[in-house]
Amino acid sequence: MRIARFSHDGDVSFGVVEGDTVAQISAHPFGPIEFTGGRVPLASVKPLAPVLPSKVVAIGKNYRDHAAEMGGDVPDRPLIFLKPSTAVIASGDEIAAPASSERVDYEGELAVVISRLCRDVPEERAMDAVLGYTCANDVTARDQQKADGQWSRAKGYDTFCPLGPWIETDLDPSDLAITTTLNGEVKQDSRTSMIVHKIPSLIAYITSCMTLLPGDVILTGTPEGVGPMNFGDRVEVTIEGIGTLSNPVGAR
Ligand code: MG
Repeated sequence: MRIARFSHDGDVSFGVVEGDTVAQISAHPFGPIEFTGGRVPLASVKPLAPVLPSKVVAIGKNYRDHAAEMGGDVPDRPLIFLKPSTAVIASGDEIAAPASSERVDYEGELAVVISRLCRDVPEERAMDAVLGYTCANDVTARDQQKADGQWSRAKGYDTFCPLGPWIETDLDPSDLAITTTLNGEVKQDSRTSMIVHKIPSLIAYITSCMTLLPGDVILTGTPEGVGPMNFGDRVEVTIEGIGTLSNPVGAR
């Protein structure tokens, strides 16, 4: 099932994408899904970020080749950091690069959407807390990441967390093709099988620290090939079985 969030005629709702239409659902997709009976053409809706998370928990250096290009190894324990909810934008929305940064990078990532309130989740039951998967771009002001010594500013600007286009619920995330293109040129080309700390262990580790709420998002890390984006570029993250997250780059 593909769960989207969208606006249509001024109304915001969740829906299930079926071919070229969207079947509206009442309330939200966390729990049993009830259809309203409303159905609109997919082409007539404005896509919104598929969830409004209370927090985005991201994992640093979780692919060996990316850790190497950053000059290190994958840490023994997952390296977690937070991106603010206010960084989230939808597919199609503009990434606003701040003038204070000389280098704003793309990082294509598989995003996990959490379905229920959970804490201290054992690894064996972690996948029960997953609603589905979407594409993410962990946009990073690389120069500020290096200068600050921690990452809140570099990864926390408004618009620095594109998510979408929708949540795919029926998907085995263990070995999916993931690519990032810049103006159509392939920059990152990997598979999610290269993720070192796997999704169940990430959920167990994160919830041993903080409660996750329905709609919270985990970014699972980026593969090798990160690089800068400039004004006027278009960046696209495509994950097999999900779709393509596409964003133009503008200026703040
Ligand atoms: Mg990242």
